[in-house]
Amino acid sequence: MGTSESAGTRLISVSGDVEKAGIYEIEWGISLKDVLETVGARNPRVVQVSGPSGECVSAAKDGNRVFSYKDLSCNGSLMVFSYERNLLDIIRQFIHFFMEESCGICVPCRAGNVELHNKISLIIEGRAVEQDLDEIIAWSKIIRGASRCGLGTTSPKPILTSLSAFPEEYHKKLITQSGPLLASFDLNEALEGYAIATEALMDDTGADQATEVSK
Ligand code: SF4
Repeated sequence: MGTSESAGTRLISVSGDVEKAGIYEIEWGISLKDVLETVGARNPRVVQVSGPSGECVSAAKDGNRVFSYKDLSCNGSLMVFSYERNLLDIIRQFIHFFMEESCGICVPCRAGNVELHNKISLIIEGRAVEQDLDEIIAWSKIIRGASRCGLGTTSPKPILTSLSAFPEEYHKKLITQSGPLLASFDLNEALEGYAIATEALMDDTGADQATEVSK
């Protein structure tokens, strides 16, 4: 059973928008389309293969891809999401998972996943520009190349693979930058700390002057 490179079968756990969630034994070489049909996928759009650290693929465009070590080398998890789901929100939750699970020993994983989480939040809120997408890709490269263990090296995969499978989801949320400041830069928020510090300083100075007068 299976293919010449991937012999035998694989147990997979199927969850999400399907009629028959559960554990399946599939033969290597079976197509994604056939698996989705077997499990009764409901209006499938996005399939996350191998959990958050795996690959995000399109049910429509990648239906003919097959489960094998050469293609979709599923580690045992298959999550199906229908057209009713918000893809970017799902990806943000995956990144949040990595952010929480990072043990913090190496900086690229510890800080990089926070940065990716901030970036995707900006995109969701409609405050990101093209430069933010470029920075996501640049940060992801660093995280993948410089993290010490598998958690860090795979953590940018949901964002990178979803960006490649569904670029329009990201691009339609971007805005055009006007002026020298990034749209994500909130001037008032940035000045908040300064205002608090100045107020405190003024209070102290006022108190000192009052003490001087009473002396
Ligand atoms: S890559 Fe691994 S070792 Fe490094 S911070 Fe992340 S979880 Fe820890």
